[in-house]
Amino acid sequence: MKNFFLIFQLLLTVTFAIAQKQLPYQNAKLPIEQRVKDILTRMTVEEKAGQLNQLNGGVFTGPAVNDNGQQQKMQLAKEGKVGSMLNVIGTTETRAIQQIAMQSRLGIPLLFAYDVIHGYKTIFPIPLAEACSWDLKQMSINASIAASEASAAGIHWTFAPMCDVSNDPRWGRVMEGAGEDPYYGALVAAARVKGFQGNLNDNKHLMACVKHFAAYGAVEAGREYNQVDISRVLLWNKYLPPYKAAVDAGAATVMNAFNVFEGVPVSGSKYLVTDILRKKWGFDGFLVSDWASFKEMIAHGYAADEKDAALKAFEAGSEMDMESQVTIKYLAELVKEGKVAIKQVDAAVSKILYYKFKLGLFDDPYKYCNVERENNEIFTLENRSVARKAAQASIVLLKNRNKVLPVASDKKVALVGFFANSADDLLDFWIAQGKASEAVTLYDGLKNKYANISFSNGYLPDCTTNDSLIAAAVAQAATAEVVFVNIGISGIYGGEERSLAYPQISDGQIQLLKALKKIGKPIVALVSSGRPLILTEAEPMVDAIVQCWILGTEQGNAIADIVSGEYNPSGKTVMSFPYAIGQIPVYYNHFNTGRPDSTNGNLAWNSRYRDIPNEPLYPFGFGLSYSTFKYSDFNISKTVIKKTDKLNVQVTVTNTSNRDGEEVVQLYIRDYAASVIRPVKELKGFQKILLKPGEQQKVNFVLTAKELSFFDAAGSRVLEPGKFSVFVGGSSKDVQQLDVHLIK
Ligand code: BGC
Repeated sequence: MKNFFLIFQLLLTVTFAIAQKQLPYQNAKLPIEQRVKDILTRMTVEEKAGQLNQLNGGVFTGPAVNDNGQQQKMQLAKEGKVGSMLNVIGTTETRAIQQIAMQSRLGIPLLFAYDVIHGYKTIFPIPLAEACSWDLKQMSINASIAASEASAAGIHWTFAPMCDVSNDPRWGRVMEGAGEDPYYGALVAAARVKGFQGNLNDNKHLMACVKHFAAYGAVEAGREYNQVDISRVLLWNKYLPPYKAAVDAGAATVMNAFNVFEGVPVSGSKYLVTDILRKKWGFDGFLVSDWASFKEMIAHGYAADEKDAALKAFEAGSEMDMESQVTIKYLAELVKEGKVAIKQVDAAVSKILYYKFKLGLFDDPYKYCNVERENNEIFTLENRSVARKAAQASIVLLKNRNKVLPVASDKKVALVGFFANSADDLLDFWIAQGKASEAVTLYDGLKNKYANISFSNGYLPDCTTNDSLIAAAVAQAATAEVVFVNIGISGIYGGEERSLAYPQISDGQIQLLKALKKIGKPIVALVSSGRPLILTEAEPMVDAIVQCWILGTEQGNAIADIVSGEYNPSGKTVMSFPYAIGQIPVYYNHFNTGRPDSTNGNLAWNSRYRDIPNEPLYPFGFGLSYSTFKYSDFNISKTVIKKTDKLNVQVTVTNTSNRDGEEVVQLYIRDYAASVIRPVKELKGFQKILLKPGEQQKVNFVLTAKELSFFDAAGSRVLEPGKFSVFVGGSSKDVQQLDVHLIK
């Protein structure tokens, strides 16, 4: 009966709409699914292929592949042969191009996409830095502010979050991710998706895009666009969890990675795209290629020509084609030749149309083009103050000999280092509409705190130095009580296409440090970089190391807050800092090998280097505070558990200092014998707690079958009996251990 009424109501609405000369898909009162179906029946195959065509409309974030100029693109848009454009920014531009698309036969609006990676105009810390805050709520807020600013400027869709687990600092893109841990990466991915997307039912959020699916973080030798060759076991356990979490969090879209998996470019990988993403995970949004990744299957040696590339992408289950135009050129032909089923095309197009309806674009194609919002809701003081808070929490204090930090604001200080006063270098590749001129440099930030400050460049933009620069820096430093020296690499060397064979402190900077060291003043190194650098040579020459990363608009202020003690550092690194280049990749969740380095202190014939330690300089999860913490009364509820049991883990953490401080309490496990070997440690929980001086807190964790299990090569979870260790502590290295046995 209820159904009868619904159908009746639907029929009435359709009849009414037709009487009004409105086609059903234009009728906002009909359910989205109905509207999608209706418009699909009216579309030609060419128009369907058009929906799967995404073109660059602005600044290039990849090589020009098929760029026949703006005019040709606008012509295609007018013919309904473009579904989405990227890099078109601002209400004026997006409105103008949308107006062109609305002249097409069916008036299907475009989706405007943009890389809003860590802010639109108010720039937040790079994602890697932000992840070091271990504050998921804050990350979600940062993403939602980025979304609200971008959506006020006509954007519907961001190509974020990047969910690639990576442990290779040679790869410039580590700045976009959440570091080397899959468990943590999964939580961060979900938090970011929720922040960007909200419920997608207002015009203040963006569709998120889970990228780069899959395993792009495993590029060989950290070289961008290089190949990946990993096992399925590693894929499932190490690389897939963050993408999966992002999909589960409701991400609207997923992006194909550039790399190959098992010898097949991801855009053509049925295993990844259809078997895992669609079938196993039930992803119901739509897929977009990475920039020209369909066409690049030719260069990979997988497709013979453009038509073959279009066919192979489609056969795998890939959908929207970013910038290679092979879909718009060949899909209709492939359908006519019976090589691609129209049903499959319809399924892909339906999902794109669904989101256009969901965003409200069919009802108001200019819904996101609100000049008033664009003028008033971007780069607000409020947003900047959130960015400052986020930046403070992202900073990681790596060393603090003799408590040289914090430095009281009445001290006479010297600031040395090229980047310190060059906002251009303190921002990075993915700053969307952020401007260096609007960012607070380190010098500006410190000036606000230290009335008695002098500044000297010390080295040149290319990180080399000369005698006169060093002499000037030393002369300045000699008159100060404390020397701040800003070292590292320019922010613009982080991000896409920024692989580095030597992720380390330059010779020029080392020379400068040596000269400064001679004057015998306390030296605080402020390290700016979008990746962990090798700090081994610099480390003994300085008293304190503050890992500042690349912190966005408010970086100068946030760093000043830390060094002056106004904010007590609370960040912990989510990537290991290598001891030497030859050690890369080095990561805490490695395997034991058959000959672990620690075997009874016997160094012969072990898996180790002859010239350096196996351990990184600073491990995953490490970071100091001005407070100190004691871990005591560590206990687990049972020493023998069954598969259905829950294991309660408890530890007491005490703030043993005289100032308020935050600690990231970390929980790890190890599974000693399994059907596929497991890492020596795996993060399985954490809590960031705030303690007053002398205050104690019992911190509780629960371990269940989920945390103790792993994936087999087929992607099924397995839980196997045997011995496990449970570790708690303030870093992946500094832990206490208890053992537990899992029985059948
Ligand atoms: C990058 C993506 C990015 C896209 C669009 C590609 O080159 O790999 O991460 O979203 O360009 O700018």
